[in-house]
Parts: sequence; structure tokens; C-alpha cells
Amino acid sequence: MSQRPTRILVDLDAIGHNLAAVRGRVGVPVMGIVKANAYGHGLVPVALHLQAQGIDQLGVAFLEEGIALRQAGVRVPILVLGGLFGPQLTGFLEHDLEITVSSIAKLRQVEAAAEALGRKAVVHLKVDTGMERIGVHSYSCRPFIEAAVASPWCTIKGVYSHLACADDPASPMTALQVERFAEACAHFERLGAPMPLRHLANSGGVLHFPETWLDLVRPGIALYGVQPDPASARPLALRPALSLVSQVVYFKVVRAGSPVSYGATWAPRRDTRVVTVPVGYGDGWPRALSSRGEVLVGGRRRPIAGRVCMDQFMVDIGQDSAFNEDEVVLVGRQGGEAIGVEAVAEAAGTIPYEILTGLNERIPRIYLGGGPTA
Ligand SMILES: *Cc1c(COP(=O)(O)O)cnc(C)c1O
Repeated sequence: MSQRPTRILVDLDAIGHNLAAVRGRVGVPVMGIVKANAYGHGLVPVALHLQAQGIDQLGVAFLEEGIALRQAGVRVPILVLGGLFGPQLTGFLEHDLEITVSSIAKLRQVEAAAEALGRKAVVHLKVDTGMERIGVHSYSCRPFIEAAVASPWCTIKGVYSHLACADDPASPMTALQVERFAEACAHFERLGAPMPLRHLANSGGVLHFPETWLDLVRPGIALYGVQPDPASARPLALRPALSLVSQVVYFKVVRAGSPVSYGATWAPRRDTRVVTVPVGYGDGWPRALSSRGEVLVGGRRRPIAGRVCMDQFMVDIGQDSAFNEDEVVLVGRQGGEAIGVEAVAEAAGTIPYEILTGLNERIPRIYLGGGPTA
């Protein structure tokens, strides 16, 4: 067991609650997105918990993430969302991972690998309806769909696209993407081919755009209890699953005018009390929070004083007292106060996704609830 006073607490019951809330809202199967270490919550424990909750399917970004899940005993279907590279294909097929096929050239590579191994590939065709990332443009996807339908080595399980603006309920982009996607899917009907699972909705789609739910939804951040866009409406009562806590490692009085931390960028106007917290940008706690972010000490919000260092930062607690080993909450609740990852992101000038996925392996994760986890 780690002796480090800093830890991430992951509430598996909150994740279960959020999954149930999403299911109740959409009424279609759910592909839980667990890429990037399950948004910082821990890839394997989160995936095993979602599997225990009966999730229909999981999605990851990279082949390596899918292999790690298989090696940990995850048995539900897993789609790798990212673009594929030819040499990885044996890995996909050997670990029974579903493949995103995003061009005719990649379809040919998949077919060749599947034939060589004598094993059919399970694929999802990626159509680009406006994101301009990976996928065949919806306006030229007919030959792509035809080639996939004709392929003896591919089982087309899904056809999908990705929404660029679903976190903004007012954006007209989503309606346009829905329309383009429907037009692409219609080609299966024209060919008399069976319609694969059509999927489009990320968390923003789940929360704000019922017309994107189709046959399957792909929420990521909502499962972790965080709004994709903190400013938008909250149609679901989500529960944040992650807390980040540490402890005071040092207390001192800083005299008026004496600058604190690198660069001497901040100094108190009058004598004040300052505590040091053993967390820094080397853990993924952003340096952009320097003299901007807040943490909870003694049940009160307190400002970060001066620059965040690699392994430590300082907090101005004014005239209050604090002692070594007192709890410091960076994300989560203390007393009647709470700091959400949304507020941290706002202070750092970024989005909650970047804060969560940035919290790195140096911080031990502790799992609460969810029954026994592996
Ligand atoms: C990351 C990702 C998602 C999940 O996005 P959230 O905004 O976290 O819900 C869904 N689909 C694809 C293709 C993704 O890359």
C-alpha cells in the first residue's frame, strides 16, 4: 500500500449510478468509453466494474488499451475507436477487438490480415459527417460501404460517426451531422444489406440530442459524472466519481511582502499563513493553476499562492490555522464545500477532460464501493 498522502479516490458506485442514469435516459445499449486510463479513473478497475454492471460494450482509443483489458479478463465486446495501422492488425484479431475502418485502403488491409489468420474481422465503418478527423466523408462514402458489404472477411457490426459540437445544445452542427449520417446509413438499405448498429452520440449527444441516440450510445465523460460542457444544461443528475485529496506537509507564516514560490510572482499584503501541499504538475496538477486555482483546507476554499511546482504547491490560508497531515481536497468535497473538476478546468483555462486525463500514474488510485474489485 502506498504511503503517499496524495490519492485519487474513485467512487465506483457513482459510475454505476451514472451508467444507470444514461441507460434510463436513452433506452438503447451503451458502449462505455474507457480510453485514456478511463479518463484518469483507472482503465482496468473501471472496465471490470462496468462489465459487472452489465455494460453492453466498451470503447478505447488505442489497440494497447484493448489488449490490456483483454489481459485483465474483460470479456464484453471492445471497439478501438482510433485509426488503425497495418502492422497492428494481428493484435486486433488475436485479442478479439473490434476495428474502426476509416477508408477503403484500411478495409483492404483488414481483409488481408483476416484472410492470413483465417479469422473474420469485426468492424465498424467510420463515416465523417463534419468532424474532419478520421472517416470517409459522408458525401463520398458509397463505394466504401459497398466494398465493406461485399467483403468476405469482414463482419460489419457497426457504422458510426462522431459529433463535433454536441456539448453545445444550441449548435446547429449536430442537426447537420445527424442528417448526413442518416443519408450515409440509407446506403445499406439501397444495397439491400442488413443495417449494422448505427451510433453517433457521445456524452453531449446523450445529454442534449435525442435524435443522435439511434442503436447505441458512446458516453465517456458523463459516466464519470462530469458535464462535457459545464456551462450547458444538466438534464441528468450525474455523480462525480473522482476525488483528489492530499495532506498538509508544511505550515509557515509568510511575512507581508515576502514572495512565495518560483519567479516570486505572488506575495501577501500582510502577514499570512501558508501551507505546502505535496502535489504538483509532475502529477498532472496544472501549472496553469498558479495563483488561480483553489483547494479546500479546513472546510474552506483557499487560493493557491504563487506558482505550482513540479511536486508541491502553496496555499494561503489567511489567519486560520492548519496542521501537518490536515486533509487538503483538490477535487471533491470537504465539510459543506465542493470543488468540481469543472471549476479546476475553468481556473486552468482548459476543459474537464484534460484535467482528468492528465492526472497521472504517480498518484495512487483507491476504489470505493462497487463490491470487491480485482
Ligand atoms: C472519446 C470519444 C467518445 C466519448 O466522448 P465523451 O465526450 O467523453 O462522451 C465517443 N466517441 C468517440 C469516437 C470518442 O473518441
